[in-house]
Amino acid sequence: MIVVMKRDATQDEIDKVKVTIEELGYKPHPIEGVLRTVIGVVGDERGKPHHAENLKQLPGVDRVVPIVQPYKLASRETNDNETSIFEVDGVVVGNNKIPIIAGPCSVESEEQVMEIAKAIKKSGASMLRGGAFKPRTSPYTFQGMGEEGLKILAKAKELTGLPIVTEIMDPDDIEIIEQYADVLQIGARNSQNYALLKKVGKSKKAVLLKRGMSTTINEFLMCAEYILSEGNNKVMLCERGIRTFETATRNTFDLNAIPVLKEKTHLPVFADPSHGTGYWQYVTPMTLASIAAGADGIIIEVHNRPEIAVSDGGQSLKPKKFDELMKKAATVAKAVGRSI
Ligand code: PEP
Ligand code: MN
Repeated sequence: MIVVMKRDATQDEIDKVKVTIEELGYKPHPIEGVLRTVIGVVGDERGKPHHAENLKQLPGVDRVVPIVQPYKLASRETNDNETSIFEVDGVVVGNNKIPIIAGPCSVESEEQVMEIAKAIKKSGASMLRGGAFKPRTSPYTFQGMGEEGLKILAKAKELTGLPIVTEIMDPDDIEIIEQYADVLQIGARNSQNYALLKKVGKSKKAVLLKRGMSTTINEFLMCAEYILSEGNNKVMLCERGIRTFETATRNTFDLNAIPVLKEKTHLPVFADPSHGTGYWQYVTPMTLASIAAGADGIIIEVHNRPEIAVSDGGQSLKPKKFDELMKKAATVAKAVGRSI
């Protein structure tokens, strides 16, 4: 970090800051400018964010600027500037080939999941998504089929070989969900549920961590840090749109977040244009944009009969449209030196 002194700071105040920096275990490196003095603080400040707060308290200090990122395990430098590559039941994540996760928002019935799973497999999807425990804005709407839904997903995996991605909302459900899931999805509403993040951090299963609707990119990386710091390195980040003043779409899909995250972290970055836009018409263009922007994976809602879906029908693609999307996605992926 760097301590920036006020323009009118006295020599005594500067000396006191230098002494305090040493007391906290660092080396002060003052740079005396024409207008003010700044003091470089050299040492390992990771895990000690309160030290910046301590220094801010001292008379004559204008501000303290952190230099080392607080997300040490998620930081790109931690992995020699390479994207992390890992396997999810045979599907490689983080490599040149972009995995496409597809499936319904909610598991509704065996017939529904089987039909969708067969269709997306045929189109080239690499994992099946489906919520059995649903985070709904209203407690009066469909809450998910629970374990029965997980069993349906397991049957679909048996039939297609597609690994299963499903949401966990309650730390107490982990033992049940782990029996069926290959990827534990943490939804936007639970992005900063630290008890849940710690719990999945202890799991051997991969985690798909969605960005919260009002979570900054730095906060998002700190959420990932919770999982990583418990020992689980198989974390995929997922941009799924944020809340803004815009109402023409369900959320504002933050395409910027993809290259920004790619620069800051080694974790594979996924995009969810279904929740990001909220309308099926915009899902294909934003999928293509995400691939062009450097996404390492895509998650898309697909429903065989979106008109009667119990959740998110309006943003779900029919299997035929999904098939068309896959063909276009392959072209864009090729243009940016990747494949799907
Ligand atoms: C979902 O994937 O169906 C879901 C609820 O997503 P999010 O948490 O991003 O809203
Ligand atoms: Mn959904």
